[in-house]
Amino acid sequence: MTKLQSEAGLLPTEMFHFINGIEVESSDGARGELINPVDETVLASYSFGGVAEVDAAVSAARSEFDNGVWSSLSGYQRGCLINKLADLVERDADLIADMDAVCIGRVPMEPRILDLPNAIQTIRTSAGWADKIEGRTIPTPGYLGRATLSYTVNEPVGVVAAITPWNTPFMITCWKVAPLLAAGCTVVIKPSEETPMSALHLAKLAKEAGIPDGVVNVVTGSGSVIGNALVRHPGVDKITFTGSPAVGQHIQTEAAKDFKRVSLELGGKSPQVVFSDADQGEALAGCAMGIFFNQGQICAAGSRILVQRDIADEFAQKLADVASNIVVGNPQEEGVQMGPVCKKAQLDRVNYYIREGVAAGASLLAGGECPYEKGWFVRPTVFAAATNDMAIAQQEIFGPVATVIPFDDEQDAVEIANGTVYGLGATVWTSDVKRAHRMAKKIKAGAVGVNCWAPIDARLPWGGVKQSGSGRECGLSGVMAYTEEKVITVVTD
Ligand code: NAD
Repeated sequence: MTKLQSEAGLLPTEMFHFINGIEVESSDGARGELINPVDETVLASYSFGGVAEVDAAVSAARSEFDNGVWSSLSGYQRGCLINKLADLVERDADLIADMDAVCIGRVPMEPRILDLPNAIQTIRTSAGWADKIEGRTIPTPGYLGRATLSYTVNEPVGVVAAITPWNTPFMITCWKVAPLLAAGCTVVIKPSEETPMSALHLAKLAKEAGIPDGVVNVVTGSGSVIGNALVRHPGVDKITFTGSPAVGQHIQTEAAKDFKRVSLELGGKSPQVVFSDADQGEALAGCAMGIFFNQGQICAAGSRILVQRDIADEFAQKLADVASNIVVGNPQEEGVQMGPVCKKAQLDRVNYYIREGVAAGASLLAGGECPYEKGWFVRPTVFAAATNDMAIAQQEIFGPVATVIPFDDEQDAVEIANGTVYGLGATVWTSDVKRAHRMAKKIKAGAVGVNCWAPIDARLPWGGVKQSGSGRECGLSGVMAYTEEKVITVVTD
């Protein structure tokens, strides 16, 4: 593996807001700290902004959108600049992957092989859409007996506030920034308190690529101050948010006050449904990856593992064996497969649900609460013989905790799979192709994988139903989400 950028001393230790093409400190000089989840030492400090910084960033984005160079460019010209941004992200891919890995305590190889290639693909795919945002012509009966031509144009929605989470920060930031740039919008990014590093780097690369100052701005600090100020700001036209359902609900309520456009990518409690006719080896590997990848800190984590009753005990035991063999430790050390969770609050949350699972009577086959020493480590945990009414089956834990629930037949599986408030991802493991299609149709989710867990690709729309959110990112839908459709009718004779 290439030497880690953190070891080479290449990661920033001091960061500032990036507004209108320059780094700026908060007007009151307030600073926040990034804490290393592995040993709780301070990794870096960053500007902890307030309303003044939000005003400055929105004003830069507004002025570039309303009167700047960006709004005068053609789609083709925007696409060329976005492609240059992709080249620069590719150049710095290892550095960016390590920024995210260090901030959240992740095994560096994961963002290197997944997040960064996906982010680069998203930027390039979005660049390709920039000159292909087309409208329609619609036959209309005419105006007072005169012939008319009606056509639609999709115009950029305006200034976007992009509020992002910490779990796969760079990739999710690119899911928002690349398509909104393709559509012709400008943006103020508000990264999570735990992971501002890679978003700030993206903004600097945008400048280096020749994207005009004021198009990509980043304000760092707390959600309750900066996030709220952005959501309420009259200069913001749309909010794109990825994060928890609680904050998403708050944002939607606030945004409704002045009818801002909102897209919400929220939480999940995704089912992985394993039928006894499935390839058991593939299903086991997929279920283990689905819940233990990135310490289970994935919105589409397959945290509810529904297994047909005749194989449920054996399957749960095999999953527990996989869990027990995962090497947990400092993710930057050779051979370590799982690091800590991202923050103390997350550790407390995961341990709380593990206690809930034990108290509710589910059988703990692997892991369990581990004594708190230094670093926010959780052991990969497997509960078996759970029922769908338990908290460990209903609540998003956002940690490496698998809940195995037995089911009897297809109908039972569908009822359990759909029996939460969420609907983000789902997987069906079966060798029966007709069953696969039946299940995919009946499960309420934004994406269903058959014999694969949560495939993501820049061309595939991503998003949830029910309390997992509204709107779609990625693919053409992801670009169109940053446009407003306008109809123009012309009397032609
Ligand atoms: P979070 O909701 O706590 O924070 C997300 C962002 O919102 C952060 O930048 C935070 O500072 C900001 N924020 C907090 N309070 C705010 C407020 N009052 N107004 C405006 N902004 C505010 O979520 P998190 O802990 O960072 O991320 C974990 C959650 O994200 C999980 O629920 C996970 O499922 C979800 N998630 C969803 C997807 C998806 O694609 N559906 C992807 C990744 C993560």
